[in-house]
Amino acid sequence: MKLCHFQYKETVYWGVVKNELVFPIDNFSDLAERENQIKLTESFDIASVKLLPPVTPSKIVCVGRNYAEHAAELGNAVPKEPLLFLKAPSSIVTEGESIIIPKQSNQVEHEGELAIIIGRTCKNLSDADDPLENVFGYVCLNDVTARDLQRADVQFTRAKSFDTFCPIGAFIENDLDVSDLRVTTKVNGVIKQDGRTSQMTFPIPLLIIYISKQMTLNPGDIIATGTPSGVSKLNEGDICEVEIEGIGVLKNPVN
Ligand code: ZN
Repeated sequence: MKLCHFQYKETVYWGVVKNELVFPIDNFSDLAERENQIKLTESFDIASVKLLPPVTPSKIVCVGRNYAEHAAELGNAVPKEPLLFLKAPSSIVTEGESIIIPKQSNQVEHEGELAIIIGRTCKNLSDADDPLENVFGYVCLNDVTARDLQRADVQFTRAKSFDTFCPIGAFIENDLDVSDLRVTTKVNGVIKQDGRTSQMTFPIPLLIIYISKQMTLNPGDIIATGTPSGVSKLNEGDICEVEIEGIGVLKNPVN
């Protein structure tokens, strides 16, 4: 099922997307419970609504160097356990909104990634748990990075957290086997990154268990699972598109 968060006139809704229609559903506190309570009655033409970022997370947890070829292209070794960092939730934009290049950087790059949206509070998961039970769904995400500042600062916070540096797809796909999906990123229609989720050093179930042992994951939290090789510089006027098989395309202009 494809879900979205949208505004129609003055009201904000959650919705189920079918063909070109969006069916509003009740607002629930627990994302994972929504599916059971859906009654599809009235609908809006998707072109008539304003799509909003799908969630407002308490944190965006990112995984660095999770594809060996990407670690190598930046001159880094593959880590022995997942390398985690955080992106500020204030960096989120959604489909169609601009990525703004800050004047502090001369090397802003795209990182197309599969992202997980957490549906249930989870902490200290063990190998006996099924970590995917805690997933609400999956979205396209662009982990936009000021590469020059990342190198200069060593800490990733500033390089990853400028406003607009976290475009997230407006549509959440909640019924998908994500173990082997194609992830591509295009700039102005040219493929720059082309990988498969099966190439991750640390696969998604392992990542969820590992992160839950470091910090409590809350409903709406996002895990960005790392980027394939082929990252490249974005320039004003570019159009950047992250596409994931089974989820769709996230398209953002660069300004
Ligand atoms: Zn990344």
